[in-house]
Amino acid sequence: MIELGTKFDKVEGKYKTALEAAHQRPRILRARGDATGAEIERALSEKVINENKIKTKENILIVDIIAEHNACYGLLALDSNTNEIVAYLAKVTILASGGAGQLFSNTTNPDVATGDGIAMAYRGGAKVTDLEFIQFHPTALFHQGSPKFLISEAVRGEGAILKNINGESFMHSYHPLAELAPRDIVARAIIDQMKKTKNDYVYLDATKIKDKFSQRFPTIYKNCLALNIDPEKEYIPVAPAAHYTMGGIKTDTWGQTNITNLYACGECTSTGVHGANRLASNSLLEGLVFGNRITQKIKKNNTYYSIEKLKELNLSYNFPREKYKEYDPLKLKQELQKLMWNKVGIIRNPSDLKKARQKINEWKFIFKSELKTTKDFELANLTILADLVTNSALQREESRGAHYREDFPDRDDINWKKHIIY
Ligand SMILES: Cc1cc2nc3c(=O)[nH]c(=O)nc-3n(C[C@H](O)[C@H](O)[C@H](O)COP(=O)(O)OP(=O)(O)OC[C@H]3O[C@@H](n4cnc5c(N)ncnc54)[C@H](O)[C@@H]3O)c2cc1C
Repeated sequence: MIELGTKFDKVEGKYKTALEAAHQRPRILRARGDATGAEIERALSEKVINENKIKTKENILIVDIIAEHNACYGLLALDSNTNEIVAYLAKVTILASGGAGQLFSNTTNPDVATGDGIAMAYRGGAKVTDLEFIQFHPTALFHQGSPKFLISEAVRGEGAILKNINGESFMHSYHPLAELAPRDIVARAIIDQMKKTKNDYVYLDATKIKDKFSQRFPTIYKNCLALNIDPEKEYIPVAPAAHYTMGGIKTDTWGQTNITNLYACGECTSTGVHGANRLASNSLLEGLVFGNRITQKIKKNNTYYSIEKLKELNLSYNFPREKYKEYDPLKLKQELQKLMWNKVGIIRNPSDLKKARQKINEWKFIFKSELKTTKDFELANLTILADLVTNSALQREESRGAHYREDFPDRDDINWKKHIIY
């Protein structure tokens, strides 16, 4: 990445590394203080835009993979310029469509994280796995009416302390690593404190961290100041929010799915590297490693159809859709997000999970309906994922990593050291 132009932060000519939750030593390169992902994306986008051999298309929503007889031949897309569904034939298709944080009403993820790639791969016959493992980040900024902005784990890595609304620190009574315990433990401890103090948030005290906050975390600092919170002088109100989808499209260690010529990398996959509980900062790393491995793999393989041959195959480009009852996609999305947060969230029990499943079953008409707009397609994909996440969470009768069941609070290696695959 450095050779491709990514500028990671240096101190006195040496790359600076940071410590994050459950890490035993500082090993995380960072860029512009707290904008590592943005810097990696900047460097890669610049390369892609300046490379004549790569054509990019924007404002296109991919709606389905073209898959027949267990092979993928390209993608169907909704072109928002013309409102038409168009087919892109391809020798090789790589899905890199990100996670599904939008399943939940409280999330750090952007609006586009609706799990589209996972849902379309599943519809096309790809295996999806580990979907019960949703990581909830312990410390999203709590502020009525603003998006759930992330207060990075690195802030706790630099010495910030969690305190309940009475100003009492509490993490040492939940885990020996205290503030730097694994994310699921910190998230559940915060929920417990929120219940005990009958409040919707706790505080993060970053007033005494090692470096000056405004210099070490310039983006977070700017965002907090915009909401009249000065992290150098006052506590930051925080609460957990859905953050990372550990499960997804099942691939091998070269990004290959079970569908011939369909590959996937990044947060839409379940490569296995994150287990049941991703460690901080391992996802950018995973995306880069597996993206690279896919290119190595497809360069070696020369068994693909030519585009001319693909055109002759007479593939079916359209999936039958019927006209069902009218619905408001935005309203239904909000209802679905609320249901998932309240019934399939950080602490799960069978009664809530069954109620969620029943409600989702009532909404299944959506993904058989005639879908026209981006909002329709995204809602259909979210409904498919809600169904898969809820069923997996109900099936896994143990607690492991980010999946916590009140009725089975312990890990059960005898019965459950295995994956749930759909
Ligand atoms: C606030 C925040 C902070 C984070 N901090 C860190 C960190 O410090 N370190 C770390 O390792 N990880 C971090 N993560 C996680 C990490 O950023 C993500 O896991 C990673 O960016 C995922 O990359 P990706 O390329 O798989 O997907 P994305 O970066 O989500 O990209 C997916 C792209 O696909 C597009 N797309 C989706 N569906 C469609 C469709 N149907 N048609 C067309 N395009 C589509 C989207 O618009 C998007 O451009 C953070 C995540 C968040 C939300």
